Amino acid sequence: MLEENKFKRFIRNILAALLAYYLILSGAVKKAKKQCLEQDKVLSAFFHDPPEKLFTACILWLKKNGFVFISTEQLLDFLYQKKSLPAGAVWITFDDGWNRNLSQVIPVIKEMDVPLTFFIPTAEIEKGAFWFNQVIKHKKRLPPEFRTRPFEKLLEIKNTERLKIVQDLYPESGDSGDPMSIADIREIAALPQVTIGSHTVNHVVTVNCEPGELEQEIKNSKATLEQWLGKEIISFAYPNGDYDGREKLFLQKHGYKIAATIENNYITADTDPFFVPRNCVLDDGSFAENLCHMLGVWTPFIEKLKKFFGR
Ligand SMILES: [Zn+2]
Repeated sequence: MLEENKFKRFIRNILAALLAYYLILSGAVKKAKKQCLEQDKVLSAFFHDPPEKLFTACILWLKKNGFVFISTEQLLDFLYQKKSLPAGAVWITFDDGWNRNLSQVIPVIKEMDVPLTFFIPTAEIEKGAFWFNQVIKHKKRLPPEFRTRPFEKLLEIKNTERLKIVQDLYPESGDSGDPMSIADIREIAALPQVTIGSHTVNHVVTVNCEPGELEQEIKNSKATLEQWLGKEIISFAYPNGDYDGREKLFLQKHGYKIAATIENNYITADTDPFFVPRNCVLDDGSFAENLCHMLGVWTPFIEKLKKFFGR
C-alpha cells in the first residue's frame, strides 16, 4: 500500500515538474519574480520537512535573485509601525518542528545567516510524535471507518473525538523520531537566526474546537513555550491553515501579534497581522515546482486548469 502511494506520488511529482517547466518557459515565473521584487511587497514561503538539497536550492535561488531575508520582528515593524522593508523582502517559516530540520535546515541557515521562524505544537513535541503521522503509520489500529484516508477524515470531526481516537497511537518510548525534542527546541531558539512561535498544543484544526478548547490551545501553547524558552512568544501559525475567524480574538487576548495562514498571496502593509499569507513549499516536490509554489504562481495556475477541465 505504502509502495503504491509512493509510486503515485512519484508520478504526480514528474507531471508537476513538467507543468512547472512550462510555467518557467512561458515567462510566468519571471513575471511573478518581478512583482515580488517590488518595494513594500513581502514574499512569504513556508516549509515542513525539506531535504537539505531542496532547502539550499530555494535559499540560494532567492539570494541570487535579489531577495532579502527578514525576521518576524522586521515583519511586525512593517505591519504595525509601517517601517519600510528592503525591496525583495522574503519571510521564511517552518511548521511543526521536524527532527530532520536540525540536520537539513539549521546548518544552512547558520552558514547563510537566514532568519527563520519555527511554529511548534507543544504537546506533540512532549509526546514525541505528530498525530497526523501516527495515524498513517498505524492505520490498522484506527476504528474501521478511519482506515482509508485517515488524515483527511480526522480533519473533519470534532477535536475531542479526534483526540480520543489518536491518544493511543503515540509511541510508548515517547519518541517516534519525527519531531524535535524540547532540548532541541531550546538549542535552536538560542540561535540569533531563529524565532519560535506557537502552532497550538495538540496541532488542532481550530475550526473543529469548541470555544473553550480553542482558547486553551492558543493560551497554553504560548505559556508552555515561554516556560521552555524564557522568551515571550508572539507569533502563531494555524495548523493545516484552517481558521474561522474566532481565533483572532483569543490570539489578541493572549498577547500574540501575528498569525500565519497558508493562503497563496504576498504580504503588504495592508495585510491583517492575524491573517498573514504564506506560499507552501512541498517537501518532496521538484525544485522547479517549488519555485512556482514559492513565487505564488502554482496555485492560481492549477485553479485555472481545474476550471478549464470543469473540476
Ligand atoms: Zn502543522
